[in-house]
Amino acid sequence: MPAQIIDGKAVAAQVRTRLAGEVTTFREATGLIPKLVVVLVGDDPASAVYVRNKQQACEKIGVTSVLHRLPGSTSQQALLELIAELNVDKTVNGILVQLPLPSQIEETAILDAVTPLKDVDAFHPENVGLLVQERPRFRPCTPQGVLVLLQSAGIPTAGQHAVVLGRSEIVGKPMAALLIQKACNATVTICHSRTRHLQDITKTADILIAAVGRPEMITRDFVKPGAAVIDVGTNRVGDRLVGDVAFREVSEIASAITPVPGGVGPMTIAMLLENTLQAARLQALPG
Ligand code: NDP
Repeated sequence: MPAQIIDGKAVAAQVRTRLAGEVTTFREATGLIPKLVVVLVGDDPASAVYVRNKQQACEKIGVTSVLHRLPGSTSQQALLELIAELNVDKTVNGILVQLPLPSQIEETAILDAVTPLKDVDAFHPENVGLLVQERPRFRPCTPQGVLVLLQSAGIPTAGQHAVVLGRSEIVGKPMAALLIQKACNATVTICHSRTRHLQDITKTADILIAAVGRPEMITRDFVKPGAAVIDVGTNRVGDRLVGDVAFREVSEIASAITPVPGGVGPMTIAMLLENTLQAARLQALPG
């Protein structure tokens, strides 16, 4: 039986509809409009597209978004000064620094400088720590988007063996951290470029999450028949966008699969909106 195609666009649209209602309720209760500031350094075309999509998504649900576009020659000090201004600006609820940054800027220094209360990407060490301790302030956007997709498709995680391919700070590690929480109760294996006998491990996965950044690396030989396969990868091959999973052949044996595009990508943006509203709520609290 062909796999269930998990439609990330449709699920993200449902999330946005719910959030639009919640933003209205928040505005009526507080008189405030949630505001996200996006900082884009340089002119990487892919980053510009991501930023535009994020801003459009904000507008659609009634969240204000402001773009700070800086030249690729911007110094680390200048960027730190902008972050410091945004941190204390009471009208700003969320701060997102679009990655990657130019090579003269150390990403960690910038991400650490964003005040944790406005860290809607959940990259700050304080927010990572809170997540690991199962009391998240913000849930990391892409991994949380994956969980919402699994829930929407009726795929249980409790007691399931989830294999996460990739150990990045943005996807792999926080994905594993969410899956082992008591809310999910998955048994998790994390793989990376030094993992030996990779296929033997991935073939034991009930849920396989690929975040390696290698076009169509995950062929059917990596997948247990009946597994749910979530493809986080977004790789440009010529003028095509492809995932880390060889979609056509894997969809013949998986029970469920996300497409690229139209799978995890839209969910990442929807979760960013969720976090921006959450940031506004936290900052509106008295005291
Ligand atoms: P990184 O490059 O930071 O991490 C890739 C991970 O994959 C690393 O842990 C690396 O291992 C591992 N890896 C690389 N090659 C292999 C291999 N042959 N076998 C096993 N493991 C391997 O990437 P990101 O996590 O940032 O992103 C991963 C993919 O997800 C990219 O395509 C990216 O564009 C996409 N992405 C999509 C998002 C969305 O919204 N849809 C959001 C964020 C990312 P090691 O640590 O040993 O180097």
